[in-house]
Amino acid sequence: SVPLAEAGGRLLIDLQAISDNYAQLAARVAPAACAAVLKGDAYGTGLEPAATALWNAGARSFFVALLAEAKRLRDLLPQAEVFVLNGLFAGTEQVYDQYDLRPVLCSQDDVARWQDYCAGIGRPLPAALHVDTGMNRLGLSATEAIHLAEGRDEFRFPLALVMSHLACADEPDHPLTARQLEDFRAVAALFPGVRASLANSAGALGDKSLHFDMVRPGIALYGGRSRRDTPPLRPVVRLELRIVQVREVHEGETIGYGAAQTARRPSRIAVLAAGYADGIFRLAGASDGQPGAEVVIAGRRCPLAGRVSMDLMTVDVTDLPEEAVRPGDFATLIGEGIGVDELAGHARTIGYEVLTALGRRFHRRWV
Ligand code: PLP
Repeated sequence: SVPLAEAGGRLLIDLQAISDNYAQLAARVAPAACAAVLKGDAYGTGLEPAATALWNAGARSFFVALLAEAKRLRDLLPQAEVFVLNGLFAGTEQVYDQYDLRPVLCSQDDVARWQDYCAGIGRPLPAALHVDTGMNRLGLSATEAIHLAEGRDEFRFPLALVMSHLACADEPDHPLTARQLEDFRAVAALFPGVRASLANSAGALGDKSLHFDMVRPGIALYGGRSRRDTPPLRPVVRLELRIVQVREVHEGETIGYGAAQTARRPSRIAVLAAGYADGIFRLAGASDGQPGAEVVIAGRRCPLAGRVSMDLMTVDVTDLPEEAVRPGDFATLIGEGIGVDELAGHARTIGYEVLTALGRRFHRRWV
């Protein structure tokens, strides 16, 4: 019988693979420290289980996007160094203080707010500083950083880290990467004795010059590809979808919404119990002249047939022996040689989006 929780499918998350990926990156970047990025619920793999695996593998510094994520992490790992990337909102300073969390200050307002808070309580609390070097998303400008550094004696708090973020690290020869590196070197030199961090996964897998004192990988830990010229590390996620039924379709009939795909021969179609409501992108579907993603059933690859619907998708299993495809069995959409990046390619997106979109309805099992 099918367990209720797994009626749609199940997501198997390999924590050993996360640990192994961390160990591989940490060894690669040593003597630089290897932190871990846990935002997006650890890229969909589960904040708490992933953080525990990473801590046990030796990670001591972690980055999250939101304060709420940081609180969860602090509850789990009392000793961890926890950075919150998305800026310091007014009125939240006391939460950082209470839970011993490090805000990543990313504007002059953030800096002023933290200065004021530290002055108000009479205790200098460490914070990180994000300086923009070309991403144009978060961070003080280089000029603002210089002004800050010049008035350093007035700093009322210790800097735990100075960081920036690469916009094109996945394209090693992109000229912006060289410019950002050069600018970040200058920024880091403004704050002697403060740890510096520039590299994400792609940077960590790239040249040593990008590593500085600490790297901040995310996607590589979770088995996604971060650079075009480097294969992903160990796959972490396996997604198995339940087969609801198998049906016959006559030659010339169409399959699914929009009559987007026509059966070119008498076909057998397996219906799977998941769809775009579960984060399986509609673009991954197939139509006449436009093949879609594939799944593995009974060890064989089978192509999607027709569009992905909200809670269902359809697969052509005509080439499989009839007894190999039974209602209640699983079809593997990620795993068995299909990486998150392959699925992402069909949906014209990136592995990051596939991982973080994986639906809450899937029963998650950490193995
Ligand atoms: N550092 C910052 C500031 C980020 O926003 C991210 C994620 O986008 C990372 C590091 C990790 O990046 P990646 O997943 O490419 O390793």
